[in-house]
Amino acid sequence: MKMKIKSFVYLCFLFAIGWTSVAYAKLNIVATTSELGALAKEIGRDNVEVINIAKPTEDPHFVDAKPSFIVKLNKADMLIEGGLQLEIGWLPPLVASARNQKILPGNHGHLIVASTGIQVLEVPTSLDRAMGDVHPFGNPHFMLDPLNGEIVASHICDRLCQIDLANCDYYKENLKIFTKRLDQKLSEWQKAMEPFRGTKVVTYHKTFPYFAERFNLDVVGELEPKPGIPPSPTHINTLVPMMKNKGVKLIIIEEFRERKIPEFVAAQTGAKVVIIPIMVGGLKETNDYIALFDYIVKQIISALKS
Ligand SMILES: [Zn+2]
Repeated sequence: MKMKIKSFVYLCFLFAIGWTSVAYAKLNIVATTSELGALAKEIGRDNVEVINIAKPTEDPHFVDAKPSFIVKLNKADMLIEGGLQLEIGWLPPLVASARNQKILPGNHGHLIVASTGIQVLEVPTSLDRAMGDVHPFGNPHFMLDPLNGEIVASHICDRLCQIDLANCDYYKENLKIFTKRLDQKLSEWQKAMEPFRGTKVVTYHKTFPYFAERFNLDVVGELEPKPGIPPSPTHINTLVPMMKNKGVKLIIIEEFRERKIPEFVAAQTGAKVVIIPIMVGGLKETNDYIALFDYIVKQIISALKS
């Protein structure tokens, strides 16, 4: 009898431990890029543990995805990717090796944010990757429009509600707070950019069409002849006179790009090179999604004013 009581107490203890760990276990989220991770954190807050695969200073098309991420993906409750083949070169082998049913394509734990609600720009009429185009299904850099960030945040909220129904109200409340803050900031940014409406710019890669559309910049060309193909002398020789002709003021490049060619083109045309981060966390000033835009807008305006 004594043994039975002991076993019962022990069972209660095990149950309590199990219950405690379930009640306080955070959801493990793996995001391919840090701006997706930042939004997951905005919505999941204390209920989620977020890990990003791409470093914020890396070209998101060519990420050096370490095998250590396989272990993280194995434990993930949710994987968030951008889609439009941004991650095609590095994510699928990691997911395949992770042996985690939850995050396999098509399952609840795998969210491809581009698949609903995003108005995709530059969708090609024919699929021809012979020239090395890394945007075969349209431009995947949609996170650089804050309104797309809002759409993505709402997808993340929906999916968190599916995975963790008990905390759905909490996620919805966080989404509401985030959306309100982002809307307020967007009007501030647009007001600050308004004097520069229609400014002609050239970018290194086709990273900025969504940003340009939201903030009324006019992108007239790129240093790359085609997305993912490095600038060639022939292309630069055509680009320089076009830029002079159109009065291009800025060459916008991401911080991970080489600087020699942009600086050469700037010297030839009188345009100014502005270096901006495109992912959250690359600099101490860009530690969340809103801070990223604060910084980008500030950098562009200060380059145009000087
Ligand atoms: Zn790209």
